[in-house]
Amino acid sequence: MSKVSVDISTCVGCALCEQSCPEVFEVKGDGLAYVKMQFCSMHNLQEVAEQCPVNSIKVSESLK
Ligand code: SF4
Repeated sequence: MSKVSVDISTCVGCALCEQSCPEVFEVKGDGLAYVKMQFCSMHNLQEVAEQCPVNSIKVSESLK
């Protein structure tokens, strides 16, 4: 299972992550992206992280 986090100190609120995976990411009224769930069965979160223009999304695969 992956562990997802957003560094809100660098997030610019472009909402690309929310568009790519709204199950996990939500851009709130303060213009920052927040993580709602730690995993998504429909989207590759590593790919979503790579789309972030400021590299604010971290995805780590936790070991068993
Ligand atoms: S893609 Fe990156 S910069 Fe854009 S809202 Fe998501 S975390 Fe923030």
